[in-house]
Amino acid sequence: MFDLLLKGARLVDDTVTDIAIKDGKIAALGNLNGEATKVVSLNGEHYVSAGWIDLHVHCYPKSPIYNDEPDSVGVATGVTTVIDAGSTGADDVDEFYDITRKCGTDVRALLNISKVGLIAQNELANMANIDAEAAGAAIKRHPDFIVGLKARMSSSVVGENGITPLEKAKQIQKANGDLPLMVHIGNNPPNLDEITELLTSGDIITHCYNGKPNRILTPAGELRASVSDALKRGIKLDVGHGTASFSFEVAKLAIAQGILPHTISSDIYCRNRINGPVHSLARVMAKFLAIGLSLPQVINCVTANAAEAIRLKHKGQLAVGFDADLTIFTLKRQPLTLVDAENNALEVDLDLVPLAAIRAGKGYMTEQGSAEHAFDF
Ligand SMILES: [Zn+2]
Repeated sequence: MFDLLLKGARLVDDTVTDIAIKDGKIAALGNLNGEATKVVSLNGEHYVSAGWIDLHVHCYPKSPIYNDEPDSVGVATGVTTVIDAGSTGADDVDEFYDITRKCGTDVRALLNISKVGLIAQNELANMANIDAEAAGAAIKRHPDFIVGLKARMSSSVVGENGITPLEKAKQIQKANGDLPLMVHIGNNPPNLDEITELLTSGDIITHCYNGKPNRILTPAGELRASVSDALKRGIKLDVGHGTASFSFEVAKLAIAQGILPHTISSDIYCRNRINGPVHSLARVMAKFLAIGLSLPQVINCVTANAAEAIRLKHKGQLAVGFDADLTIFTLKRQPLTLVDAENNALEVDLDLVPLAAIRAGKGYMTEQGSAEHAFDF
């Protein structure tokens, strides 16, 4: 007996299948006739993918600068797992962990290499905040919750310290089992070439299509040699849209040269969720559909690729034994204005609308979902 049976789920390759869930895991796929406590019929009308994973959010409610409620950027918008990118450091990650135990969304954290986290904009301006011992102890206290490290390497964050915080980050990474390291890029110094030089396979550059002068493209619009070398070494590109870090122009020029994102993430928090330009992960994904990525490519960026980037072994795929984290969504033909972080608008006629999230077998309707459908979870 299954707990939940989804009948007629359309996958992104346009095949239609049934999906059975038991004890929070995917139990079976295919043409299924087993009994289930609850049956939800999708009739091939709605898409189902592995649960969306947003690799870059800010959802520590107590951060004075970038805060949100985890479920507001998670299951309420069709996202089953959110990765908080450095809102907390060794000093406040315990409190963040406690808060997230009550959430429907699976919340994980990239630990800020600054022990104070995001209490102010310049957490790496004081080198005394980078306490390797405290970081190591925090990682040992929360081996599942802390999935990696975060270093924000732009001038407003590092002050006079240049590249030194990143050297420290690499040392902390080495001392802690080579955890994935996400590096934020923005205004220089430090210069992007200096940053990429220090990165190694598996490290993640977020804000990869930012439109600032320290961008991945040269003034002539070509990929910087240092970034090209980094990609050959296995460094990953993450979108991290945010309030100020996504340019249609940069993304289009890069994609035209085959420089695709490994992961599509939002860098969402309450202000850019409510006022834009982010709004939701789905909206960021719609932007990539608008500039030429296919639906399977976009979904792959928020499922399999995201799970791989932070080594979540039981997520990111619709396969038996994987976590029963799923997103139900639809593609809607309707006029839509998409705005990037440079205030450039793109008029399109295709929206990506999340209807529901299923997290560890439990269903959550989104606002759009409950307005149109009533899945009986
Ligand atoms: Zn961020």
